[in-house]
Amino acid sequence: MYKTKEDVLKAVNEHDVKFIRTQFTDIFGVIKSWAIPSEDLENAFREGIMFDGSSIEGFTRIEESDMMLMPDPTTFRILPWRPKEGAVARMLGDVKLPDGSPFVGDPRYILKRAIEDAKKEGFTMNVGPELEFFVFKVDENHNPTTELTDQGGYFDFAPLDRAQDMRRDIDYALEHMGFKLEASHHEVAPSQHEIDFRFSDVLSTADNVVTFRYVVKSIASHRGYYATFMPKPLYGVNGSGMHSNQSLMTDSGKNAFYDPEGVNGLSDIARYYVGGLLSHIKEFTAVTNPLVNSYKRLVPGYEAPIYITWSDKNRSSLIRIPATRGKGTRVELRCPDPTCNPYLAFALMLRAGMDGIRNEIDPGEPVAQNIFKMTPEQKKQRSIESLPGSLKEALDLMEESEFVKETLGEHLFEQYIAGKRSEWNEYKAQVHKWEIDKYLSRF
Ligand code: GLU
Ligand code: MG
Ligand code: MG
Repeated sequence: MYKTKEDVLKAVNEHDVKFIRTQFTDIFGVIKSWAIPSEDLENAFREGIMFDGSSIEGFTRIEESDMMLMPDPTTFRILPWRPKEGAVARMLGDVKLPDGSPFVGDPRYILKRAIEDAKKEGFTMNVGPELEFFVFKVDENHNPTTELTDQGGYFDFAPLDRAQDMRRDIDYALEHMGFKLEASHHEVAPSQHEIDFRFSDVLSTADNVVTFRYVVKSIASHRGYYATFMPKPLYGVNGSGMHSNQSLMTDSGKNAFYDPEGVNGLSDIARYYVGGLLSHIKEFTAVTNPLVNSYKRLVPGYEAPIYITWSDKNRSSLIRIPATRGKGTRVELRCPDPTCNPYLAFALMLRAGMDGIRNEIDPGEPVAQNIFKMTPEQKKQRSIESLPGSLKEALDLMEESEFVKETLGEHLFEQYIAGKRSEWNEYKAQVHKWEIDKYLSRF
């Protein structure tokens, strides 16, 4: 789409863009945004845009609050749901200190660092995510509810369904913004949808995930609905995941996971990569599954993983190897959910995989049976472990991990844990409806 700042300046002129929303994410992947008039853009490319970082979650202490955002021209996109005349665009950027050095609390920087290190060892990571989400009705005050917009199921097609029209609008908007869509369909639960876009290098994909969430929410809201990526908004039906299909490419452009001579067409690199993911996943589940609510998705019966295993086909495994071989050979990590910070989650996946390759971590035999049907003894015999069962458990494991601390850097690591601990503590002290229903009249 756009490569250089000259491309962007030209597009601003051609499309009559009046404002540019400059954006970055806080450590939890939430977009922070403010608009600059297009006249200021040239200057912004040259000198960056100053802002006060002290009020951004997990960013700075008061004494170092001056920050600068350097917009990245490759992320320039015109927002199709805004007027054509006096158009609005948005651009993501890198957060810097006033002297121009990278800010260690910027998630995009953490990912870039992981990418550079993998590059030194001869690999580039590609990722293709599958984001699922629910679309609900809003009430008369436009507040979100959990009222369903349809009763559809997997791949259902209803010709007169307004929710389907809305998904089509999202598809158009995404395509307009340069996404190459691979699938867009109703998911298993009522009012649940999935839209998959084409894989790309890991940095572009992380940017795309952030953009995707923004587009889906914006279009749904324009249509008078509410889209949510909350992993388990409804009890008793499937939750929303963000399966992350990943592969490594060598310097010569070959898929490093494919080996026609290897067992099942997989290279040793692929096996070790899987070994690395399996051995570190518990340490960084608090990042791939960051909410209290995330752990209500990771329960038996709803196509979400629980056990730390890999498999060729079996969807009950944490890691599945989709059947495609050759260029498309990839590993699908199934635990992440779409509320994660994609920059941090992908950085951790990449580093875990690289650690597996460096240390030749054996992933063991793939598990062919449905693990949910195994007895506890069978699981024990095969040393099948589970993902952490709650945000608290995940945070305890993360806090002990040198691997995660190194990947995220001390500043972000500590800020992340502190922020999430306070979220957990807030939750823990609440009295939930379930408790009232269960105990009030009984005791
Ligand atoms: N919604 C399921 C999950 O929570 C995944 C369904 C699928 O395989 O696409 O991960
Ligand atoms: Mg799905
Ligand atoms: Mg999948």
